[in-house]
Amino acid sequence: MTGKVCPDYLTIQSVVDNEEEDQAVLEHLDQCSACRKKEEEIRSMVFYANQLSSKERLPADFCDRLSERAVYQPFPALPFALALFAIAFASVYIIDPGYLNWWLTVGITSNIGLFLDTFFELLYFGINTEPVWIILFLATLVLIEVIILSGIKRLEGVIK
Ligand SMILES: [Zn+2]
Repeated sequence: MTGKVCPDYLTIQSVVDNEEEDQAVLEHLDQCSACRKKEEEIRSMVFYANQLSSKERLPADFCDRLSERAVYQPFPALPFALALFAIAFASVYIIDPGYLNWWLTVGITSNIGLFLDTFFELLYFGINTEPVWIILFLATLVLIEVIILSGIKRLEGVIK
């Protein structure tokens, strides 16, 4: 661990537990306010957890086990999103079934209409345009897709 890179949560945890022996990490915490803030959070978490009950004390490895679970348990993003969507869908139906009917007919129809309009406009555009512009346009679409996909990948990395 170099002095310039911020240590991860587990490493700061080991500093709080007085288990960290890497001098570079200890020096980093002296100099980096962001890491000191994390350290304070961990310390106050342990402090308040101990205050909750006067007789019971947290096991010494409580924070290790907690952060292991927090790090290694993947967040079920897709089921969560589906559940949220289902809840939103159901609550709209309960509040006003007419609105849902309206959205299914008018909303989707107008979206398909817009899609078809765009498709035909692109078709006419393609007939009247040099192939090089079409290739550039398609390349731009692919580029946008790649950017979006890599963004999603990064997001998944953050969630997991
Ligand atoms: Zn830092």
